[in-house]
Amino acid sequence: MLPQRADVVVVGGGSCGSVVAARLSDDPDRSVLLLEAGPGYGPSDVPREIRDAATLPVGPGSDWVAAYPARLTANRAAIVVRGGVLGGSGAVNGAYFVRARPDDFTRWPRSWSYDRVLPVFREIETDADFSGPFHGASGLVPVSRTPEELLHPVSGTFVEAASSAEWEWVDDLNAPGPDGVGRVPMNVRDGMRYGPSLAYLLPVVERSNLTVRSDTRVVRVVLSGRRAIGVEVEDGTGTRRIAAEHVVVCAGAVCSPQLLMLSGIGPAGELRRLGVEVRHDLPGVGSGSTDHPEVTIPYRLRRDVPLRAPLLETVLHTSGLELRPYTVPFGAAIPGSGVVDPVLGVVLTRPRSRGQVVLDSAKPWSPPVLDYNYLGRREDRDTLRQGVRIATGLLDAMHDLVEPGSVDAAAGGAGPSDAWLAAHLGTSLHLSGSCRMGDDENAVVDDRCRVRGIEGLSVVDTSVFPEVPSRGPHATAVMLAHRFAASVHDDRHPE
Ligand SMILES: Cc1cc2nc3c(=O)[nH]c(=O)nc-3n(C[C@H](O)[C@H](O)[C@H](O)COP(=O)(O)OP(=O)(O)OC[C@H]3O[C@@H](n4cnc5c(N)ncnc54)[C@H](O)[C@@H]3O)c2cc1C
Repeated sequence: MLPQRADVVVVGGGSCGSVVAARLSDDPDRSVLLLEAGPGYGPSDVPREIRDAATLPVGPGSDWVAAYPARLTANRAAIVVRGGVLGGSGAVNGAYFVRARPDDFTRWPRSWSYDRVLPVFREIETDADFSGPFHGASGLVPVSRTPEELLHPVSGTFVEAASSAEWEWVDDLNAPGPDGVGRVPMNVRDGMRYGPSLAYLLPVVERSNLTVRSDTRVVRVVLSGRRAIGVEVEDGTGTRRIAAEHVVVCAGAVCSPQLLMLSGIGPAGELRRLGVEVRHDLPGVGSGSTDHPEVTIPYRLRRDVPLRAPLLETVLHTSGLELRPYTVPFGAAIPGSGVVDPVLGVVLTRPRSRGQVVLDSAKPWSPPVLDYNYLGRREDRDTLRQGVRIATGLLDAMHDLVEPGSVDAAAGGAGPSDAWLAAHLGTSLHLSGSCRMGDDENAVVDDRCRVRGIEGLSVVDTSVFPEVPSRGPHATAVMLAHRFAASVHDDRHPE
């Protein structure tokens, strides 16, 4: 049975929602209800695919994802997936747990400067490899890297090629320092992916003041004037209302703007087009999103290599780019994806282009469209072109392992054409910024994640990032949710 009210209703049990629900229920006097649209599990029946860090269960037919139609460019359509299960995208992701860089936070409000967030990054992790001023030893997320002597042949050969091309070796990618090549920090222990549902939520799921309901979609935040007073849910048995003092939306960068708009909070013109009553005109909802465009360069190997390994063990960072030597073909790591050739990924880490999340319909079950607007800016195309040139040079230098002539000649030479880039384009699945934090007219939440102009309503997930960080967003998402929960706690228990 669903409770009829809770002090806090958390919408979405993904990466951030798991952290928020667990941390807010630390206070036994606060009742917390976590509502997740996708399927759930308990501590004793975590699905194997969600535990196994070497598999990303996001291929066709997966039970653990939600799929969305996307336009990568004006002419390039795609289907994009995100976690649609307890644990969200963090339950199915690549387990690459690297922090945003210090200068990423210059785009955030001052209260989120690097100095202010570093203690939180330390608090969330237990790093198996590093200690000292940049690392934590007692946090809930285990962080480790593949030992150098155990690196997969693709990773080891990539590091050698990058080092001989004079890229600096970076021992610790989670500490400030120069760009270069290094080992990826992963939220993995004993081969298990420790996303926030495993690290934060399941250990406390039996608490009497915490209720977790999966297969339950929130279809609307209920407002009374300018105050959120609860949510309306659908769970297969019908629609019902749940009252709350505080609604915390953690539905992710696609569904958080969707839910706000379905609730009448968003750009007034868009809401009218959809036939939704305008409750609060907030123009920034859904717009100005950022993600990392990624082009992949296929190649062939000279010899067999192990087909089971963490998908990404090492990366090379240059200003504006991340080069990713995926260890195994996507077909081996993503069941059903069918991609047989190994690929080297080239990621634009500081894209200039901005996208948006567009609703086609006011029906809650109708998936929004992701309009990425990738490659719209010349600077983005040129930086990616430069990245592809670096990548083909590295593949040439990996000749012990990479079959000569197996890399598409059109990728090298003077650099790939715009058409080549578009044909090899994908996304790193790091969508951010569709309900941006800030104080300008397009900001959706303030620096404490409170929806501007509405009482009792917060958004806490990567949608509030001012911009996608120049690294994978997951560690930063966990930091955000952890810190948000601390601020709610401090409000209730002032010093
Ligand atoms: C395949 C894949 C691989 C990735 N790999 C990496 C990586 O290796 N490293 C990295 O840093 N980042 C990675 N990312 C990105 C990272 O995992 C996400 O940015 C992060 O997990 C997002 O967290 P979130 O809390 O914002 O949203 P999510 O974790 O997506 O959570 C949103 C949750 O809300 C639920 N929900 C949505 N709407 C409703 C509703 N109306 N009612 C109730 N529930 C709802 C969803 O089902 C979902 O569980 C990857 C993402 C994907 C999809």
